[in-house]
Amino acid sequence: MEAYKCDRCGSFYTENARKVSDMTGDFIGGCATLTAGGSRDKRFDLCDDCVSDLLIFLKCEEESDHEPINNNGA
Ligand SMILES: [Zn+2]
Repeated sequence: MEAYKCDRCGSFYTENARKVSDMTGDFIGGCATLTAGGSRDKRFDLCDDCVSDLLIFLKCEEESDHEPINNNGA
């Protein structure tokens, strides 16, 4: 089993549970920054709580949609 450390909050987790969409079944594992030319710059691993905060920040979700997912055993 692999463990990850969230690059934003520092918590440890083993998997992400937030789906990209109900259609794909893929999970959101983080985000990346792009250069002005569109090349990928840096990748950031994110726990599900920080993924939720990012989606709210990006206006992809409403704050009321936020349901914390705690899968780090804490
Ligand atoms: Zn986090």
